[in-house]
Amino acid sequence: MPTTFDSIIIGAGQAGPTLAGRLTQSGRNIAFIERKLFGGTCVNTGCTPTKALVASAYVAQKARTAASYGVTVPATISVDMKAVKARKDQIVLKSRNGLETWLRGMKNCTVFTGHAHFESPNQIRVGDDLLTAKEIFLNVGGRAIVPDFPGADTVPWMDNVGILELETLPRHLVVVGGSYVGLEFGQIFRRFGSEVTVIEKSSRLVSREDEDVSASIKSFLEKEGITVRLHAECIHLESRGDDIAVGVNCEDDSSDSIGSHVLLAVGRRPNTDDLGLENAGIAHDEHGFITVDDQLRTSVPGIWALGDCNGRGAFTHTAYNDYEIVAANLLDPAVPDQAPRRVTDRIPCYALYTDPPLGRVGLTEDEVRKSGKPALIGTRPMTRVSRAIEKGETEGFIKVLVDQNTKQILGASILGTGGDEAIHCILDTMYARAPYTLIQRAVHIHPTVSELLPTVFGDLKPLT
Ligand SMILES: Cc1cc2nc3c(=O)[nH]c(=O)nc-3n(C[C@H](O)[C@H](O)[C@H](O)COP(=O)(O)OP(=O)(O)OC[C@H]3O[C@@H](n4cnc5c(N)ncnc54)[C@H](O)[C@@H]3O)c2cc1C
Repeated sequence: MPTTFDSIIIGAGQAGPTLAGRLTQSGRNIAFIERKLFGGTCVNTGCTPTKALVASAYVAQKARTAASYGVTVPATISVDMKAVKARKDQIVLKSRNGLETWLRGMKNCTVFTGHAHFESPNQIRVGDDLLTAKEIFLNVGGRAIVPDFPGADTVPWMDNVGILELETLPRHLVVVGGSYVGLEFGQIFRRFGSEVTVIEKSSRLVSREDEDVSASIKSFLEKEGITVRLHAECIHLESRGDDIAVGVNCEDDSSDSIGSHVLLAVGRRPNTDDLGLENAGIAHDEHGFITVDDQLRTSVPGIWALGDCNGRGAFTHTAYNDYEIVAANLLDPAVPDQAPRRVTDRIPCYALYTDPPLGRVGLTEDEVRKSGKPALIGTRPMTRVSRAIEKGETEGFIKVLVDQNTKQILGASILGTGGDEAIHCILDTMYARAPYTLIQRAVHIHPTVSELLPTVFGDLKPLT
């Protein structure tokens, strides 16, 4: 087996595999290294399994509220966690196996299984093999942060990996971390039937979002029976019989939350601490994120970093876009006068998959205010969206922000049923650099959530 390749890719996450396809098509002979599960976080312990569970939880909730739709179901709804997990596992396995089979069958691609680390700027050690290449692409992703809470080393707790293995329902799940990952799991398990407490150290949930978004999410989670505890300044854990006590020392309530299970969801860190970056002289920041330029080149020529490990995005779509940027700039024929593809061409967008979901694009209202731009704002509660009323899903609201002078859209939040889809109408208008009046004059399909966007853009007021 040759140990010298044209290119080496480390990590079968959301950028590496498709990049392998393009590199081999270009005639390169490549080595592909994955240490664990093909498909990385998204496929195995992130997007795919959580959205499969969100779907099961949605069905449970609909069954529970069936009477309000005129549908009769048994008075008590129960969830078979083994079956829920089996469904989730089947979806995950299909995706993971498909990817692995594709890579292993790829012409001019040699797959190595094991942990990779740098021995020098162009040498990678994986087990007994020492591989050399002129081009190295890092797609090593990230993992959950293990916080140094007092007592965290004395009690069992779960992260996003562990909680996905549960085959029985937690009696009481205490979620530490009231942000994207914690809230999705919290609502999922509440709908499955667990008692759920969410503990968050800041003054509101998902504190990166606007206050009205945080407040609305808190309100609909509490209506479902989730206990939310904010201002948790001094979180600590200890055993209490068979249970786990999470101490919070909150401003208003300092009693412990006692759960049968604890999920720690307090952030993510890059998988770069064991990659031997120092042996290659690759620069990184104080959190371990690899420093890259606008084309995702690291500080060492011939080495690129893609996906969560570069700190320029924390989503599957940003990791995939990183692949597109690197592949285009490296492999596509140069077009005269056309600038290379860049990370900064990307418009920030993402969704939070609570039910209802939050679709987000561009700046928040808070960020627009801080920018000092003269801006206009439009809002509409979901209680005034026909589709939401018909579906019986009226929590949330639509909010859009535009630049008063240029008429360009600055950002939007759609917290409501279908918000994760409807947001794309705004996103594509922003990519087209078209003024908001384009949407205002468009005719959208009735009845949809998107149908209301022309109305919202037609009723803008100065942001004061
Ligand atoms: C619970 C949860 C839910 C999420 N939901 C969403 C969502 O709905 N939508 C969304 O866009 N994003 C979501 N994300 C984020 C998304 O999963 C990540 O942004 C995405 O997976 C990042 O992809 P990546 O390619 O950078 O890395 P990863 O997918 O993490 O892949 C990295 C791969 O590299 C391998 N690797 C690491 N180090 C080495 C090494 N030294 N040697 C060999 N192999 C190595 C790992 O085993 C892994 O397979 C979620 C994340 C979590 C935790």
